[in-house]
Amino acid sequence: MKSDVFKKLGFIFMITYNPALKIFTPSLINDTDYFSGFSTKDLGDSKNPKNISNFLNLSLVEFKKIILLDQIHSLNIHLLEKDIPGVETETIEDTDGVITNLGQTVLVVRTADCLPLIIVDKTTGFIGISHQGWRGSLKNMAGKMVKTLQNSGSKLHNLICVLGPGIGACCYDVDQDRYFSFLQEYDGYSQKIFSRRGNRWHLNLALLNYLQLLNAGVKTEKVDFFPFCSKCDKKRFFSRRRNKKTGQELMFNFVMKSR
Ligand SMILES: [Zn+2]
Repeated sequence: MKSDVFKKLGFIFMITYNPALKIFTPSLINDTDYFSGFSTKDLGDSKNPKNISNFLNLSLVEFKKIILLDQIHSLNIHLLEKDIPGVETETIEDTDGVITNLGQTVLVVRTADCLPLIIVDKTTGFIGISHQGWRGSLKNMAGKMVKTLQNSGSKLHNLICVLGPGIGACCYDVDQDRYFSFLQEYDGYSQKIFSRRGNRWHLNLALLNYLQLLNAGVKTEKVDFFPFCSKCDKKRFFSRRRNKKTGQELMFNFVMKSR
């Protein structure tokens, strides 16, 4: 009965808060073989990788490796093919996206206001994660992630995409230069992704990435996105814009498969 109501409202999937794990988890991805989520402030600053491994250990997750990215706001996507045994945490230099089909390998991007994207193909077994702020979004990093998975054998209709917590249009005002650079790239979307508040243009980063995923050919019913704003929700999220002086803390966003 309840699921009928949700279906009528259009909520056939959702991202929900798990109070035991203190993360948000997407129902579209998580099952017995796939585990993904978005951390909250309660799990600490993920610049310290110990906070990530502690979370995984406390959640009783069996994993071999944590893959961190040395994020530089690029369009670089790393294909992780081989496991280097021994070390628990490995950092890939100069990249903002990673895909793999290795099991028990936890792919992580760390954010505070920028947008994390998780992509899973349960048919090929490939998983991916990427980080996009305005630079990556301007250059369509989401679309490039989709292409990279296609190059690894994915069919578009099998791709599941989830956009995690990022800064909302409510708080993301951009200057005139940035506004015009987006207008140049996304003239067709500009009515949707920009709103005028006071004398500033506000950008809806999640909506832009959502449209980029659909434009790349991902099915509407296989894209989910987080509806709240990382800057507004002081209780749950770190925010670079909110804490301009001290705001260096980062949340972690992750995906892995168990085998
Ligand atoms: Zn906000």
